[in-house]
Amino acid sequence: MKVFISADVEGINGMTEWCEATKGRPEYELFAQRQVKELAAISEGLHDSDPGIDILIKDGHETACNIVHEFLPEYTRLFRNTGRTPYIMMHGIDQGFDAAIFSGYHSGAGTSGSPLCHTMEPDSIVYMKINDELADEFLLNYYSALYNGVPVVMVTGDEALCQRVKKVDPAILTVAAHVGEGGGVFSCHPNITNRELRETAAKVFAQKSQCSLVLPSHFAMEIRFKDHQMAKRAAWYDGVRRIDDNTIVYENDDYFEVLKAYMFII
Ligand SMILES: [Zn+2]
Repeated sequence: MKVFISADVEGINGMTEWCEATKGRPEYELFAQRQVKELAAISEGLHDSDPGIDILIKDGHETACNIVHEFLPEYTRLFRNTGRTPYIMMHGIDQGFDAAIFSGYHSGAGTSGSPLCHTMEPDSIVYMKINDELADEFLLNYYSALYNGVPVVMVTGDEALCQRVKKVDPAILTVAAHVGEGGGVFSCHPNITNRELRETAAKVFAQKSQCSLVLPSHFAMEIRFKDHQMAKRAAWYDGVRRIDDNTIVYENDDYFEVLKAYMFII
């Protein structure tokens, strides 16, 4: 089996502050180690059920240069930094993968499930919607996987995100690494999360055939910016409509065109 893992950090066990997610800050190092331990646990669980497993991990957070490969099993491959394609956190996904997993994901902008709620760009995006529903990074990247015919089989992150994932597709296996409340999170010991990650990852191949591959037939992406100037700039992209001072909409039937529009207007 060939598995694609998109790796973020805000939804790993215990993360509550932006400094913990920011490379170069002293608080970051502990959480970088925690992230790689979670990824190793997922990889080991996949390997438990398929010793011939081929895993590609896309480092997906900020600079995308967070993961130290030496701390992962040898049967993992890694893509660091940006591929300069519209897939962004999903760079490397293609039709050759059997399944996709999102790790360390988090609740999106406009919700309250994490102290670090955001969608893509926390400094510039107030919220994103797709087809009139709030869209988070999970949904954006879920559609990228499905666009390539790859089912999303497992998502890890804050508990509110896990509940939201189950509403999109109840067959996706989830592991809640913490529970957000106000400015903080409740978490169990990281070793317990890691055991649960390994056990859950070992079950994904049995689950795979239950997972949906149905994409919407049309996409209307709405973005509300903090800064009205961003909306004015975005409206120069072909097909973008500015619906008020700070908000734009882009519509297309082809999801890759939506991803392209996002890449150029942000
Ligand atoms: Zn992130």
